[in-house]
Amino acid sequence: MSDETVKYLLPEDRIPKFWYNVAADLPEAPAPVLHPATGKPVGPSDLEPLFPMEVILQEVSTEREIEIPEPVREIYKQWRPSPLFRARRLEKALGTTARIYYKYEGVSPSGSHKPNSAVAQAFYNQQAGVKRLTTETGAGQWGCSLAYAGQIFGLEVDIYMVKVSYDQKPYRRALMETYGARCVPSPSMETASGRAVLEKDPNSRGSLGIAISEAVEMAVQREDTKYALGSVLNHVCLHQTIIGQEAMAQMEMANDEPDVVIGCAGGGSNFAGIAFPYIGRNLREGKKTRLLAVEPAACPTLTRGKFAYDFGDIAHLTPLAKMFTLGADFMPPGLHAGGLRYHGMSPLVSHAMHLGLIEARSYQQLECFEAAVQFARAEGIVPAPESTHAVRAAIDEALKCKAEGTSKAILFNLSGHGHFDMQAYTDFFAGKLEDLQYDEALLKESLDNLPTVAAE
Ligand SMILES: *Cc1c(COP(=O)(O)O)cnc(C)c1O
Repeated sequence: MSDETVKYLLPEDRIPKFWYNVAADLPEAPAPVLHPATGKPVGPSDLEPLFPMEVILQEVSTEREIEIPEPVREIYKQWRPSPLFRARRLEKALGTTARIYYKYEGVSPSGSHKPNSAVAQAFYNQQAGVKRLTTETGAGQWGCSLAYAGQIFGLEVDIYMVKVSYDQKPYRRALMETYGARCVPSPSMETASGRAVLEKDPNSRGSLGIAISEAVEMAVQREDTKYALGSVLNHVCLHQTIIGQEAMAQMEMANDEPDVVIGCAGGGSNFAGIAFPYIGRNLREGKKTRLLAVEPAACPTLTRGKFAYDFGDIAHLTPLAKMFTLGADFMPPGLHAGGLRYHGMSPLVSHAMHLGLIEARSYQQLECFEAAVQFARAEGIVPAPESTHAVRAAIDEALKCKAEGTSKAILFNLSGHGHFDMQAYTDFFAGKLEDLQYDEALLKESLDNLPTVAAE
């Protein structure tokens, strides 16, 4: 057999027409989202200042299939179906008996999976008559994706970007501005939440939690403005399931079946995207495909966090969601995988973890970059710092097969390319990249401060 990379491209007319909603197949419903003031489950009207109704209905839906609107499918065609590759050259380099496949989401205009949800959210907001969107961004991937989607649908986009990334990634900001969005370093003086943080710590490097507070605060102030979130929420995970549905069809074309499906997990959306359709199949058909979420050891939400009600942001403006969390006050160290620096995890991914439907593992950043360089030299694609976590896990699974003399199929989601993150690679080659430790005492303090909720 050839040792060249094999590419499986679905024809355009095989783009799924429906998103898959895992809530329909879960053996136990996830805990309700609670209003922080009343402790009662939030209703659609509580969320109306933030999101258009169509998005709110998706957030609480238990329908198995939700139709992808025609205009959204038309835009998806610019880069979807995304390719699935068999990594033969990587397999050869590893000398493994495993078969390694990866789904490549870096082919989108902004270079990651995020436009899958950004385009859908911008569409529903435009349909609802919204004129302006606010959002936060960590490494800048989500900001770029929403800026791109906002431009398509004629929406103004204001983006609060975590300060450490704003300074580290000037080209991400340039891309957001190229798409016509406004990008503000967070914490900023524009909002009460930002000013409160700066008063305590004028040198604050920001966090996703702070930036979310700023974006939410700005959204609720104006009638024509709503808020868009790039991960964590049910509707975002829903929009990403196009990844896993395409991957299933492509694995069929490859005449193979994954034994394990891997994704990196920050807020959980790209992992949900590739894993949820497989979870559904496991539940409906009794299959036993393993699902593995991979996170940074410096921000280990699924592997070290608590499954409890918590806020999504530091200013406690969001509703309370039951999820794996490190505590809304937890400030992760400034690792290069900025998209994985979030204290919480998607409630649906958390619930799946709680039910034992998925596994989780964490890695330090040096071992992830080692794997990414090995991958790039074999396959030619440079992974985003976030995606390096999935690459590390896939290589480790392949090496385990080699040691055991077994032959398994490994599928991972390569959530994005690293072309805007080459400074991280430069630092790695210069020996300047270090493994980062979070402060155990601060984590304990943050977990001790979790809100107490009557419903628990
Ligand atoms: C944002 C991002 C992530 C992390 O977000 P999830 O919601 O966990 O997917 C992972 N990979 C890339 C390339 C990203 O841009």
